[in-house]
Amino acid sequence: MRSIGSALFLSACMLAGLTSAGAAHYPTQPAKPALTYLYSVTFTGSTPIDFGATPLGNLTFTPLTGGTFSGPKMKGTVVAAGGDWNLVDAEGNFHPDVRETFKTDDGAYIQLYQTGSGPQPGGVAHVHLSFVTGSEKYYWLNKVVAIGILTPVSYTEVKIDAWQVETNPSVNEVLLGVRSTSHFVPILTAPMGSYTTNGDTAPLDVAIVGGGAIGVITALGFLRRGVSVTIYERAPSWPELGFTVAFTGMARQCLRRIDPDILETIERISQTNPAKTVRYWDGYSPRTKEAAEAIETAVIAETSEADMGYAGCLRGRLLAEITPLIAKKGGVVRFGKQLVGYYDNRENDKVRLTFSDGTDAEADVVIGCDGVFSTTRRLLVGAEHDAKYAHQIVYRAFVPIPGAVAALGAAKAGTQTGHMGPDAYIMSFPITTAGVYGIVLQVHDPEDWAHGRTSVVPTTRTELLERLSGWGPHVQELAALVPEQFTKWGVFDMADPTPTFATGRVCIAGDAAHASPPTLACGATIGIEDSLALVELLSATGNTRPLSGDRAHGIEAALKVYSDARRERGLWVVRAARRMADVLQWRDGEVGKNDEAAFLAAYEGNTKKIWDVDEDAMVDEVMREFEKIQAGQA
Ligand SMILES: Cc1cc2nc3c(=O)[nH]c(=O)nc-3n(C[C@H](O)[C@H](O)[C@H](O)COP(=O)(O)OP(=O)(O)OC[C@H]3O[C@@H](n4cnc5c(N)ncnc54)[C@H](O)[C@@H]3O)c2cc1C
Repeated sequence: MRSIGSALFLSACMLAGLTSAGAAHYPTQPAKPALTYLYSVTFTGSTPIDFGATPLGNLTFTPLTGGTFSGPKMKGTVVAAGGDWNLVDAEGNFHPDVRETFKTDDGAYIQLYQTGSGPQPGGVAHVHLSFVTGSEKYYWLNKVVAIGILTPVSYTEVKIDAWQVETNPSVNEVLLGVRSTSHFVPILTAPMGSYTTNGDTAPLDVAIVGGGAIGVITALGFLRRGVSVTIYERAPSWPELGFTVAFTGMARQCLRRIDPDILETIERISQTNPAKTVRYWDGYSPRTKEAAEAIETAVIAETSEADMGYAGCLRGRLLAEITPLIAKKGGVVRFGKQLVGYYDNRENDKVRLTFSDGTDAEADVVIGCDGVFSTTRRLLVGAEHDAKYAHQIVYRAFVPIPGAVAALGAAKAGTQTGHMGPDAYIMSFPITTAGVYGIVLQVHDPEDWAHGRTSVVPTTRTELLERLSGWGPHVQELAALVPEQFTKWGVFDMADPTPTFATGRVCIAGDAAHASPPTLACGATIGIEDSLALVELLSATGNTRPLSGDRAHGIEAALKVYSDARRERGLWVVRAARRMADVLQWRDGEVGKNDEAAFLAAYEGNTKKIWDVDEDAMVDEVMREFEKIQAGQA
């Protein structure tokens, strides 16, 4: 048998015009196997049983309490049986040994065995899987050898993405391929595109343009899932991030799924509003400080903090804490790389990015997180969809807490407080962890912005006080505490929306996609939702072969689903933030200046959608859509 096989091999080489001397130029390694995506499962466990230090290492057993799995050919629930016998060896490596039972949504039971080791780059574990079932429909699984990436989601929750190992068709393609000077010309056309002979199963390679909040968070999400990431940031080092940022409860839920390490960091360095409500006061009419503190007459409305669930921190501190995680988890950051162009041609297996310093780079997919003046967006949909001036200016400064207490009174200065008035509103809050009091004044500006695309420019205390001329004495006293020189921020937004968030293998996320006025303090939250959708969708394409049509198709399908799912919400948040700016600045015809019921109705109408969403349902929905497209292509 062996000699017949050799003879067939030789004649196939000769038919294809390949001599053995020619073949000697090819890599001598055997072709890598292909991987086909099977499913993703998330399961939960209860309190582990600790066996202590055994001769093999520290052994714990975590009983499984349930979960769900979903993939192109199977989905269902995890039965509350089985568990993980996890061994931590003397070098700190952990070796999961998981036995679990799947019940498919059509009633079949499948027994799984998973063993492996970690931590691998990105903090994950690699596992190999095998299956046993008597179900006729799933009998094929008995022959499957699969590998998986196990990602701890939280203390009690684990996710495993699983791929079936298959023989790589490129073994045959090498025999039939025709060699050109620089690469193999594809001669086999598969239903989903052309296979090339140098097909490979390298991990998905993501380029992120922009190292702001959303770029960094998205990168960490990919690294968590074992995807290779490079951030290209135009600044020479991490951009200076001043002032504060607040994350809603929804943002924190998404971060839990993106990478629990980010959530842990934010929860460690943030503080919440101690009062659990926010009072919106009349900042203009009261003529004495006593009148300004009279709850019955000066409070216009009071909103609950519980729904939005803000937790705020200093941006600089956040950056200092989370950016080192990128290198630690195997990601790459290239500074001084300003994107000026990209080339996404399906004849090329990768997208090519070009930078202002004349260099270029390649990636399977490009995510533009390059902020409000996004170059990626301009390249994607044209300059006519550049962000426009929103006729709003934000002044932000820190002042000493005792000064704020003297101006506003201890009760107001001890908690987050809003002051409304004509054409402006002020949000102010103590940051006790930093020992300062933060002031954010947002004003309506009827003029054009005189500084082009430079959104942050110097300003003075005198200008700020002029803006507040005629306001109550308490507000003026507070404003007088800001430094003589500081900065103001011209707000640009995407009220003129971009027609799509993605084309081909390039997409935009965060402010690049839906920059909004900061009125609702949720721009980053909506961007974080984008990140979650992208990391889940694109990680699911990582199983396909990069140099063949299927990976490119998978990426394009994933980005189309992303754009369709996220665009409406992005547009909505811009409109909601604009409307609330009008309400808070007494410019809204319906609400006027002192109508509690109308204010609360407008507030609820423009904030409920921010927190009243289910991130798991959002992910399920996009994954379902993606799987539908994939199944249609298969
Ligand atoms: C005054 C103010 C207060 C806010 N407060 C809050 C808040 O409390 N909570 C909240 O959720 N949101 C808040 N937001 C909104 C939030 O800050 C943004 O939504 C968020 O920071 C956007 O992050 P991003 O990564 O998309 O963009 P950015 O943070 O703008 O990052 C973009 C990055 O891309 C880089 N870049 C740009 N062009 C290129 C290029 N061509 N090539 C390479 N790199 C490039 C930039 O240097 C930058 O590092 C606030 C916004 C403002 C203006």
